Amino acid sequence: MTFEYAPAPESRSIVDIKAKYGHFIDGKFVTGKNHFATINPATEEVLSQIALGSASDVDKAVAAAQKAYTKTWSKLSGKERGKYLYRIARILQERAREFAVLETLDNGKPIRETRDIDIPLVAAHFFYHAGWADKLDYAGLGKSPQPHGVAGQIIPWNFPLLMLAWKVAPALATGNTVVLKPAETTSLTALLFAQVCQEAELPDGVVNIVTGDGTTGSAIVNHPGIHKIAFTGSTEVGKKLARAIAGTDKKATLELGGKGANVVFDDAPIDEAVEGIVNGIFFNQGHVCCAGSRLILQEGIADEFIEKLKVRMAKIRVGDPLDKNTDLGAINSREQLLKIQELAGVGDSEGAERWSPACNLSDKGFWFAPTIFTGVTQAHRIAREEIFGPVLSILTFRTPQEAIEKANNTPFGLSAGVWSEKGSRILWATQQLRAGVVWANTFNKFDPASPFGGYKESGWGREGGKHGLSAYLKEGK
Ligand code: NDP
Repeated sequence: MTFEYAPAPESRSIVDIKAKYGHFIDGKFVTGKNHFATINPATEEVLSQIALGSASDVDKAVAAAQKAYTKTWSKLSGKERGKYLYRIARILQERAREFAVLETLDNGKPIRETRDIDIPLVAAHFFYHAGWADKLDYAGLGKSPQPHGVAGQIIPWNFPLLMLAWKVAPALATGNTVVLKPAETTSLTALLFAQVCQEAELPDGVVNIVTGDGTTGSAIVNHPGIHKIAFTGSTEVGKKLARAIAGTDKKATLELGGKGANVVFDDAPIDEAVEGIVNGIFFNQGHVCCAGSRLILQEGIADEFIEKLKVRMAKIRVGDPLDKNTDLGAINSREQLLKIQELAGVGDSEGAERWSPACNLSDKGFWFAPTIFTGVTQAHRIAREEIFGPVLSILTFRTPQEAIEKANNTPFGLSAGVWSEKGSRILWATQQLRAGVVWANTFNKFDPASPFGGYKESGWGREGGKHGLSAYLKEGK
């Protein structure tokens, strides 16, 4: 039986988007000089004009963060810092719907995800880290652990507010102050977060937000007043950052790309595994560094599995991100759409077989239908490169050892999934997989208490949990 869904649009009247934004420096919004447009990727409507941060804006933000660090923030007890974090977390919860709608408008991801996943996790990160602020001396984080000072934080567009929370919450809990740059295409929720900092009466200069592009990010990275860098984004830019800070005493965590393998053994519960594979690659339009973008299927079940996967994919609703029924929203930008189209085209020309369900895609905005490629081999670029879109590459295996070799045959090492009914097989496989996070019979589960990060070209260090805190601390005297 097929259900027809009546439109169920979330109202956008709750958000108040200004025509133009400046930076948030020293507790105040300051005007920028040059601006660029931020658009709704589902409609191409211009939402607002965002300030393009210059080196001098970054200078002012770093000076404000340094002053706040020396005069206020480093003098507060952990207990007092924790109170601010709790206050921020509660305000985020109170304004959750506003944040969810704004994130959906600016990013293109479905309201179902911003409402049920992004924003609740954002609040959870602040609550979690609030609890740590007064316990740092007792948690095995070294002798009398001390903050680094000013942290420079650069975040991507795929989980704009959530990546802000991953970075700002541990920095503040550990006593650092912050200069953060959101991604060019998704600055609006970071600027709304600045209002939350004001509402929470966070001391001026503890959080500074400078909007802009890669040049703004580079000015933060190279600023001598920055002591620690936290970056999430592409491996290419991650490598540039690593080169830029080599030879300095700046600390860095880099959370980069991935090409996660979801390994399905022939004893796996097939319907559940199909659901997990769909979640693994089509959640957030596949704009997920830990997406399960390679499905590695045991040969004996491959035909049946792919048939079931196609039936399930035909039910994915693609369209208006503000509609509460939508599963797959818009691609975040024209550049990203072009990249996905290019790599999918490479899949065709390399001889893999493409399949997508019939979808009505709007002429306006940036859209890509959920897509699978079968007949993929290890040599194909679509098996090796991060597509960062709703595209799944399917490979097969005969023996468990072959599955592990294929899963590990990647320059990345961020995530993996194992699907099997046998506990012993799951334990064996998870020990062999070279990935920072391995999920068993599930995928894309996130929790602030759980460290996240990768091996090889997926980056350095961990974010979240106790491991994530240690990146913001150095040993005291
Ligand atoms: P980038 O790595 O370019 O962007 C991430 C952040 O870094 C953005 O805030 C960006 O600014 C900033 N930045 C860009 N260049 C520099 C620089 N030289 N120094 C300091 N900061 C810089 O990712 P893109 O948005 O361009 O996406 C490109 C590809 O990266 C995607 O197709 C995807 O494959 C991958 N990606 C991976 C992510 C992950 O979580 N692993 C997240 C996002 C992208 P601005 O956006 O303003 O240019």
